[in-house]
Amino acid sequence: MDFSIPETLSKDVERFKSFLQETLVPNLSVWTRDKTIPRDFYQDLGREGWFGFTWEKDGIEKQDALREVLLVEQLGIISPGVAVAALAHADLGLMGLWLFGSEKLKQKYGEKAVIGETLMCVGNTETEAGSDVAGIKMIADKIEDGWRINGTKAYITNGLVSDMAIVTAVSDPEASRNRRVSMFLVDLKSEGIKRKKLNKQVWIPSDLTRVQFTDVFVPKDHLLGVKGQGLQQVLTIFTNSRISISALTLGTAVGAFELAVGHARKRSIFGQKIVQYQSKAFEIADFYAKIEAARLVLHKAAWTRDQGLDFRLESSLAKYLTVMIAREVTTWAADLFGAASVISEHPIHKFPMDAWASALGEGTQDVQKLVIFREIMKRWE
Ligand SMILES: Cc1cc2nc3c(=O)[nH]c(=O)nc-3n(C[C@H](O)[C@H](O)[C@H](O)COP(=O)(O)OP(=O)(O)OC[C@H]3O[C@@H](n4cnc5c(N)ncnc54)[C@H](O)[C@@H]3O)c2cc1C
Repeated sequence: MDFSIPETLSKDVERFKSFLQETLVPNLSVWTRDKTIPRDFYQDLGREGWFGFTWEKDGIEKQDALREVLLVEQLGIISPGVAVAALAHADLGLMGLWLFGSEKLKQKYGEKAVIGETLMCVGNTETEAGSDVAGIKMIADKIEDGWRINGTKAYITNGLVSDMAIVTAVSDPEASRNRRVSMFLVDLKSEGIKRKKLNKQVWIPSDLTRVQFTDVFVPKDHLLGVKGQGLQQVLTIFTNSRISISALTLGTAVGAFELAVGHARKRSIFGQKIVQYQSKAFEIADFYAKIEAARLVLHKAAWTRDQGLDFRLESSLAKYLTVMIAREVTTWAADLFGAASVISEHPIHKFPMDAWASALGEGTQDVQKLVIFREIMKRWE
């Protein structure tokens, strides 16, 4: 068994870190204040090939999951809020197009999406249906030449900035729960679409947007995958994106941990540095061990995917463990800064909130446990 990171990937990580130091770090406080990420930044990410997808020989190609995990961890260390915006585009929207788009749709939208010129997102959750995906109410009526969509998607990351959305809607109301939903690629500039940016306090500066669809026309060739298979398809997107959101979450834990240890080494209390108190030294060792354990499980999930093996269990394990650890580490790290941690401009402030957000996106901890239990029972047979 080889735990070393291939040299080509280590070099990519170093290049990506330099890219982030140049393009993200100097701008982050302004983007955070304005709660917006300029479109140029997505294009910079895309041009440099950092989305994990490339456009090769007239087609979309997906790069290895291990590479993506290593890169996204770095982005999460600096800004989980910027990381989630990149992931919503690449690992939800573009991933859905890559997995379920027809050749014609990939040709039409893929090349620009890969370079961040066309931005994409996924709208699945509704006010009455989040974990219970099959319970969605958005309706897609079949009409001549296509579909007419009505309903509201409650929480869409990048819903404000995106050009195209992948949405789930009920196309066969009489069918069983597993066959009533289909997936559509919708142009967000279509008539009948209203967007409302929500006032969230996590994952700043990404946007979270409510999108209302009133008699929105979707051409028939914009149905993604197979009619009636939308539930299975959206869950497949989430199985994939759980690996990258786990990397973002690991980055959230590492970002907070590094800030806290740096502070503990500098700050003196009662005549000695925080780090010199053995209780604190033990906490640092404990959290380092937990972060390392979560990283190994995450790398195993990426490896399993890269081997072309079934990775449903591994991606949920990675999500479950990274979230559990990030929530613990970030709260501890904020405590270590004392009162300063409650000031919104303080660098540590965002981390506990962002770890909380990680617990919701791509399935809550309960949903991960449902998947883990189901998958281990299958392997038991
Ligand atoms: C910042 C942010 C960004 C998001 N971005 C997107 C996006 O881009 N696109 C999108 O479609 N959605 C997005 N979401 C929505 C997210 O996917 C949902 O919030 C999540 O799936 C949970 O759904 P819910 O909020 O309806 O909670 P519910 O499903 O109502 O869950 C409520 C509680 O019940 C628990 N629960 C659920 N099922 C079970 C069960 N079977 N057994 C025991 N307990 C259970 C849950 O764990 C939770 O604690 C985003 C959410 C947030 C907060």
